[in-house]
Amino acid sequence: MLKETERQTAGSQDIALYVHVPFCRHKCNYCSFVSYSHRESDIPAYVSALQEELALSAAGQRVSSLYFGGGTPSLLSPQQVGDILSTIRSLFKIDEAAETTLEANPGTVDRPYLAAISASGVNRLSLGVQSLHDDELKLLGRIHTSVEAKNAMRCARRAGFSNLNLDLIYGLPGQTLSSWQNTLNEAIELGAEHLSLYALKLEGDEPLYEAIERGEVPPPDPDLSADQYELAEELLAAHSYQHYEISNWAREGRECRHNLVYWHNMPYLGIGVAAHSYLDGHRFANTRDLDRYLKALSHDVPLIREMSEEIGPKMKLAETVILGLRLNSGVRLDDIRARFSVDLRDRYHQEIDELTCLGLLENDAGGIRLTSRGRLLANEAFWRFLPE
Ligand code: SF4
Repeated sequence: MLKETERQTAGSQDIALYVHVPFCRHKCNYCSFVSYSHRESDIPAYVSALQEELALSAAGQRVSSLYFGGGTPSLLSPQQVGDILSTIRSLFKIDEAAETTLEANPGTVDRPYLAAISASGVNRLSLGVQSLHDDELKLLGRIHTSVEAKNAMRCARRAGFSNLNLDLIYGLPGQTLSSWQNTLNEAIELGAEHLSLYALKLEGDEPLYEAIERGEVPPPDPDLSADQYELAEELLAAHSYQHYEISNWAREGRECRHNLVYWHNMPYLGIGVAAHSYLDGHRFANTRDLDRYLKALSHDVPLIREMSEEIGPKMKLAETVILGLRLNSGVRLDDIRARFSVDLRDRYHQEIDELTCLGLLENDAGGIRLTSRGRLLANEAFWRFLPE
């Protein structure tokens, strides 16, 4: 039996706070996130519901970072963003300088909007650019063009944002190595402090998946996708971006502090439809149903949990190792010893030996980390650490 030595008492440990905004102007062709189109008239009621849920969830915790994700959080007005932030500041202990990110769709923002949300306390912007080629944006069903994406970036700078992320997607049907290289070069030229690069992932019911099934669009090529990933690694390293997590690159000191909480398997509170939380060894998720969420919060009835589970010490150790391996710094032996009173090498000697032999893991005096090949085949490594 593992001995859990980590502090996990509510209110005694900093948490990251996530706010989900499930509204989108139009559903993208590849989207499997919890987002609703044509429901923008529900935004005022949703903001009230978020404030209600915040009041119900607050227990004096210290908040180290805030993240508005979606959906399209930039469909909230600056006033609504400001109101939610005021509620958070009144209920939680929060440092004025805490990293506060808002995800924005380039098709929904202009300079006055960005200046207003910057004034309300948002200090990091994550722009869902996805591609800087109009044909790829059209295939994805995005509402913006490449020109609008570049303008959004420039407006963000003029509005005072000095910490910007761009989300980009590779592995698209028909996307060549050279079109991906162009997107990366343009993103580098735009000078974002942080880049999140995601491989296209289709779950099976998106319009793009169906178009591929019908033979109207070529299927993604996994070998090309791996080449695109390796190209990004080379190109971004040559432009002083540090590859700090499987899908994330940052200029020095600009790693996303909020997401680092997830990768270090530390506590977070999620507010809103479908938001996940991990507090006191307990993981739970709110209902994905917008109507049920609004009804519960407006009628003072218990919020429906989509999922709720206790994470036992063995699973917690496994998750800490798996999430930590996503980071290029890897998993440190002394961290694991301090948190779990366990010797990582003793506990997982067989898994570590096998993965090292396969060239997926490297092992030094301080700990373990994925190799470049391991980052490409990460799932092949991760499952081995799960308890039976
Ligand atoms: S903007 Fe994002 S969340 Fe909204 S539909 Fe497109 S991919 Fe989904």
